[in-house]
Amino acid sequence: MTIRPPVFDFDDAFFWEGAAQRRLLIQHCAACDTVRHPPTPVCPECGSLEQGAIESQGRGTILTWIVSRHPTEPDAEPRIVILVQLDEGTRLVSNLVDAEPAPTLNDARVEVCFVDHDGTVLPLFRLAGSGR
Ligand SMILES: [Zn+2]
Repeated sequence: MTIRPPVFDFDDAFFWEGAAQRRLLIQHCAACDTVRHPPTPVCPECGSLEQGAIESQGRGTILTWIVSRHPTEPDAEPRIVILVQLDEGTRLVSNLVDAEPAPTLNDARVEVCFVDHDGTVLPLFRLAGSGR
């Protein structure tokens, strides 16, 4: 699998630290209870700087997906990039693993899985019920 390692910054450090512990952490506004992703320093709903995180159960539904092919390395394995509607109420872009492109991916239920890629743990998704 060809996955580019994430670039950490201050706002999303907690997300990657959570992933390293096999936990999917989603930013949560302590002032208005909004959950959101990707992390931002200021809540877009209420303007609060009081940010925390909740642990997602890692379950959701595929809203849309594409097959991503590397532009300059045509032999690299294509990836299925998905937009997931998490059950907690926010959306997340990730990759779907252990699956083939098919119309049945539309609205499919997925669950998070954590994959170690060159020392960085990535939260990816697989079809629900296909667990290893
Ligand atoms: Zn807020």
